[in-house]
Amino acid sequence: MLIMQNRVALVTGAATGIGEGIARLFASMGAKVILLDRDAAHNEATARSIDGARAVTVDVCDGEAVDTAVRNVGRVDVLVNNAGIFPRRKFIDMTEAEWDQMQNVNLKSMFHCIKAVAPGMIAQGSGKIVNISSVTFHLGTSELSHYVASKGGVIGLTRSLAREFGEHNVHVNCITPGAINTESEKNFVNDEAVRFMVSQQCLKRRIVPLDIARAALFLASDLSDGLTGQTLNVDGGWVMH
Ligand code: NDP
Repeated sequence: MLIMQNRVALVTGAATGIGEGIARLFASMGAKVILLDRDAAHNEATARSIDGARAVTVDVCDGEAVDTAVRNVGRVDVLVNNAGIFPRRKFIDMTEAEWDQMQNVNLKSMFHCIKAVAPGMIAQGSGKIVNISSVTFHLGTSELSHYVASKGGVIGLTRSLAREFGEHNVHVNCITPGAINTESEKNFVNDEAVRFMVSQQCLKRRIVPLDIARAALFLASDLSDGLTGQTLNVDGGWVMH
């Protein structure tokens, strides 16, 4: 059963990692997937390897560029706000520019992307928005105060928009991934930290992009039609809330 057939799905930060995993699974379930990422070469290469996918190069922090990109796409059924950055920094050493950049990429980008798709979704009387937050919001991880604050903002945005958009049958939900085995994770944690995180999980294996993609598929498809404003924690049973 191709549960995403005839759906147009925009996935941000889809050239690699979790976004790529989401784009691949959605396409395999029949969706026409548009990959939004800022790295044109990488994004186009990824799109070429996914059936029927299209790459659109855009910096999700640039509201005008996002708006133009979405206008060119036309109808959008699903938006997955996944693009994000996670450089560690002690609060005491953090500059205002670093704080602002984190909020811009991880949170304000969602303002731009949702602003661009929401009028169309409201007009068509349906839509699924899936925002990617992080388990670090539940954990309050140190040396990531700017990141954790941005990801808490994502959960707040999700809840408030679910209330605003519900009457238009536009669903807004959120995923908090745990420690996910992506290439960029290597810049963030070492092997010892990874072993520790797995030891904290109920499931004693690495959680991979496909695990997040499966949860995103649920939230983007009819399977989750009775659910909005929720945060699904996909972390192998690390945090329970
Ligand atoms: P990756 O770094 O592997 O992929 C993120 C993608 O987003 C990259 O292609 C990146 O491009 C792109 N991107 C970043 N900024 C922008 C921008 N301004 N405009 C357009 N594209 C952009 O990250 P992950 O797949 O690991 O993470 C994806 C999401 O999941 C993030 O929101 C992250 O916070 C969240 N998450 C990840 C976890 C993990 O363990 N990996 C755990 C919890 C949450 P570029 O390469 O040029 O930066």
